[in-house]
Amino acid sequence: MSAYEEKIEQLRKMIESTVKICVFTGAGISCPSGIPDFRSADGIYNEKTGNKYTPEQIISHTVFMREPELFFEFYKDKMLYPDAKPNDAHLYFAELEKQGKQVSVVTQNIDGLHQAAGSTEVIELHGSVHRNYCMECRKFYDMAYVKNSPGIPRCSCGGIVKPDVVLYEEPLDETAPYRAIEKISEAETLIIIGTSLIVYPAASYVRYFRGKNLVLLNKSSTSYDSSADLAIYDDVVNVVRSLKQ
Ligand code: ZN
Repeated sequence: MSAYEEKIEQLRKMIESTVKICVFTGAGISCPSGIPDFRSADGIYNEKTGNKYTPEQIISHTVFMREPELFFEFYKDKMLYPDAKPNDAHLYFAELEKQGKQVSVVTQNIDGLHQAAGSTEVIELHGSVHRNYCMECRKFYDMAYVKNSPGIPRCSCGGIVKPDVVLYEEPLDETAPYRAIEKISEAETLIIIGTSLIVYPAASYVRYFRGKNLVLLNKSSTSYDSSADLAIYDDVVNVVRSLKQ
């Protein structure tokens, strides 16, 4: 058995021997679905100010309020993927739940792919592109409406339709962090997938884990690897396919 196969076997046993499994996911689990990490996108050159914004700066509350055209240009182009489908990794954790495991998902992603795969316990730390509300009358709009609106998406009342996505400079949803910490602290196995854990507040949540197995699945190593019981460096879809063999 190769070292890689031994790690897969170890992960299989961890999953088989525990019931409460928490999966903490970042951009890496959705890359195989064709959703790139928006942070890797090029910035936008702003003709008015002559400034080049980084992706983080564009997806900020300040730019949203002051230059909504610029915000939505980037947002619609780099953050909305209407054709993206759940991949084998999203589907695997939904299947585990159907098999009777108590699987909770805590995600930094805003793409809704865990729910699309069938997971029912999903805590979205940064909101969802699938929920959009008029800033004036709170009317709901779906992702297609925002994606297909020319320029700034507007409500029938004239208000701007704002994505329910946590922008830089904005606080997290009030209840999500509490629910995330609750699930992490209850879990017997915590599997962290596709995140370097550098994005606040993800790293601080991991400290609440008191279970047996802390697993990191990432394409490359992170600074947390030494505190994990198991670290596998591979595309998560490959890991899941190996698990199922
Ligand atoms: Zn409205």
